[in-house]
Amino acid sequence: MKKVEINKDNCISCGLCINTAENTFAWDDDGKSKVINNEVTDEVTNIAEMCPTGAIVITEKNE
Ligand code: SF4
Repeated sequence: MKKVEINKDNCISCGLCINTAENTFAWDDDGKSKVINNEVTDEVTNIAEMCPTGAIVITEKNE
């Protein structure tokens, strides 16, 4: 099973992920993206590839 996380150090607040998948990403208090739903869909995978700084990290979750 996979999970999605934001590398906050790399997020430049472009809004692409939030505007594209509002069920997965939202603005955090620090003005950067945060994950609100950990389900890794094909859409989320595509957005991770489109993030200009590679800040969206998808990893295998050991459970
Ligand atoms: S697409 Fe990447 S850089 Fe843009 S807001 Fe989302 S995580 Fe941040």
